[in-house]
Formats: sequence, C-alpha cells, structure tokens
Amino acid sequence: MSLLSRILTPFAKRFIAGERAEDAIRVAKALNEKGMKVTLDILGEDVKTEEEAYKAVNSYLSLLELINKEKVDANVSLKLTQLGLDLDTNLCAKNLEKILDKAKTYNNFVRIDMEGSAYTQKTLNIFHKLHQTHKNVGVVIQAYLFRSEKDIQDLIKEGCRVRLCKGAYKEPQTIAYKDKKDVDSNYIRLMEQLLIANNYPAIATHDEKIINHTKKFVGEHKIRNNSFEFQMLYGIRSRLQEKLANEGHNMRIYVPFGSHWLPYTVRRLRERKENILFVAKNLLKK
Ligand SMILES: Cc1cc2nc3c(=O)[nH]c(=O)nc-3n(C[C@H](O)[C@H](O)[C@H](O)COP(=O)(O)OP(=O)(O)OC[C@H]3O[C@@H](n4cnc5c(N)ncnc54)[C@H](O)[C@@H]3O)c2cc1C
Repeated sequence: MSLLSRILTPFAKRFIAGERAEDAIRVAKALNEKGMKVTLDILGEDVKTEEEAYKAVNSYLSLLELINKEKVDANVSLKLTQLGLDLDTNLCAKNLEKILDKAKTYNNFVRIDMEGSAYTQKTLNIFHKLHQTHKNVGVVIQAYLFRSEKDIQDLIKEGCRVRLCKGAYKEPQTIAYKDKKDVDSNYIRLMEQLLIANNYPAIATHDEKIINHTKKFVGEHKIRNNSFEFQMLYGIRSRLQEKLANEGHNMRIYVPFGSHWLPYTVRRLRERKENILFVAKNLLKK
C-alpha cells in the first residue's frame, strides 16, 4: 500500500462501503430499509489492458446477478475508462453492451458516470449509440461545463435519462465555470429543463439550496415526486438523505466499493477544506 493510501484509509472508510461486493450489498440493504434506493459502483478507472477491462465487465455481470439474487433495490454506475475507453472505443462499447444486456435480463438500469472533459464527447458518442438499442442506460452531465446546455438539449430530444451533477474534475477556465455561483446557477437552469422534459432525471447534489429550489420548482409546476429522484453520495449528508426519503421523495444513494478507492477518495477530499483538515488532524495524532 502506498504512503498516500495509508494516510487516506481512515478518511476513505467514510465514503466507501468496503472492498467486497458483499460489503456493498449489506450497506445497500440497510439503506433500502430506510426507504432509500441505491446505485452500486465498483471503483476503478483508467484501465491499461484489455484483460483489466474484461475483469471489470465480469465484476459488473456478477454484481447484477447478486443484486437480483439478494433482491436489493439497486442499479449500477460505471465509468467507461474502466471498460477500456482509453484502449479502444469499439472494445469499450462492446464491453458496455454486455453489461446492458445482462441488466436488461433483470430489468435493471446502468448509469454511465461522467469523467474528465477529455472523455465527455467519447462518452456521449458511446451512450447515444447504445441508447438506440438499450433504453436501460443513462448518462451524467456536469453543470460546470459550458457545453452542457447543448448536450442536455440533445439528450432531452432523444428521451434519455440524465443524472445532473456539478462536476468533480479539475477543468480549465476555457471550458468550465470556475465560480461556485456560476456553477450553481447553471445547475439550476439545467435542472429545470430536465424536470420539465420529464424523462426521470436524477438531481445529484448535497447542496441544500439547490434541493430546496428543486422542491419549490416541482411544486409550482405540478411535477410529481415519482417523476424524478434526488441522488447523493454514500457518507455525505446522511441526515438530509433520510429527511428527503421520509418526505416521500425518491432518494438514491451512490455506494462505491472495491479496492481501487484512491482516485474517488481524492476527489471527495478535494471538494471540501474540512476534509483536508480531517486528514491533517489524523496525521498529527499519529
Ligand atoms: C449521486 C452522485 C453521482 C455523481 N456522479 C458524478 C459523475 O459522474 N461525474 C462527476 O464529475 N461528478 C459526479 N458527482 C460529484 C459531483 O460532481 C460533485 O463533485 C459533488 O457532488 C459535490 O458537489 P455538490 O453538488 O454536493 O455541491 P457542493 O456545493 O460542492 O456541496 C454542497 C454541500 O454538500 C456537502 N459536501 C459536498 N461534497 C462533500 C464532500 N466531499 N465531503 C463532505 N461534504 C461534502 C457539504 O455540506 C457542502 O456544503 C456525483 C455526485 C453525486 C451526488
């Protein structure tokens, strides 16, 4: 284990269900009992060989079987660089198709996470191609990117299911809003368009101001609670997650698990200075 991994292990535990699929299923069942749905993510990205990509495909096929067997209310989320996007676009699309076919047999759904901007167009190309034959796939749009409004319009025309998030990667100011205020107002603009389009959008944020705005907007436009869902990450704002579920909203929790937890954990760390302080305090205690 690298020094960085050792330093971040206590912090990572808050955000990750464990290393094994069984750990994730246990967490998912507990969330289901509290009235929340789940999306399970096998941590991994940027694979360097075809073998690693096939291994990820097989892990997702087994996970879909396990979800079905254990009767958990969960779908899956994945990253295309985990399925070989950096190696060969066609190979990646074929790998994704295998997972979509399997999910279809269980009447389940697959969400393609959105990675850094180098992958946005490639991800959307693969998504649009496979969406023609598989309606059980959805994609993610990041509100910090200037291009997202046009992408959302295309996705709405095609009747696609979109998860809207703010965006978690470091992007240059030539292509992305840098100010929180600008990201938030773009988020609200895109969220309203998705809600009006009514293709079961996922409003993925822990930002209470945006969540309250969403509630007000759906009330004003008579949009029913069961025609969209809120989504949050495992380990962040758990009380708010339960509150929304108790209010009768569809609440889905993104639960990552697996041994490749470092890049995901670093993204969570960078999002908040309190997280950096937590890690620093732990280091000083040692
Ligand atoms: C279900 C889900 C799926 C996602 N999928 C993707 C994806 O595919 N691609 C992508 O680029 N990004 C993805 N993200 C991450 C997203 O882009 C943001 O980086 C992340 O959600 C933080 O933004 P926020 O909307 O919560 O707003 P912020 O303004 O960043 O945060 C609002 C509040 O949430 C809490 N909070 C936020 N982040 C943290 C944290 N790390 N630790 C502790 N508290 C925190 C704090 O209380 C903060 O004040 C996803 C997020 C969610 C919820």
